[in-house]
Amino acid sequence: MTDVMTPEQRSRCMAAIKGKDTKPEMIVRKYLFSRGLRYRVNNRKLPGSPDIVLKKYKTVVFIDGCFWHGHENCRYFRLPKSNERFWRHTIAMNISRDYANNVDLRLAGWKVIRIWECEIKTKANREENLNRLYACITGTRTPEQYQTTESDDVSVAAEPYTAYGEGETVNNL
Ligand SMILES: [Zn+2]
Repeated sequence: MTDVMTPEQRSRCMAAIKGKDTKPEMIVRKYLFSRGLRYRVNNRKLPGSPDIVLKKYKTVVFIDGCFWHGHENCRYFRLPKSNERFWRHTIAMNISRDYANNVDLRLAGWKVIRIWECEIKTKANREENLNRLYACITGTRTPEQYQTTESDDVSVAAEPYTAYGEGETVNNL
């Protein structure tokens, strides 16, 4: 199974989250720019410091790292075995902060779009997801619709979760 993160991958993932201008973020920015959209980045005056702010469309975009923001059923979200309680708590705090920021932004009239790092990290569905993002920003789709075609990812990501040593589940009706 190559789905489990190696320590090297994990440290790279964590390093990427801490710094700005991370790779998935750059991919999104370049793409939006190529489609003619203009934006500001890392706006600290807005709740949660959105990664991309498109004033013209009154829209903010977050590119959320799957580990820090707790992407459920994602292969990139696996809690480290040591200090698991600490990590669970930290990530739960991040999730509730994200939620609060979404609420504050929406109350202030912003359209909030959150995309997962894994949705653009690999080339598999990247183009499709970026197209969908563009449609959400420009208004032909709602942010809720952005999340609708995730079923493929889930089925792939669900695989590693069977490897928790619980054995095969047979006739579990
Ligand atoms: Zn993910």
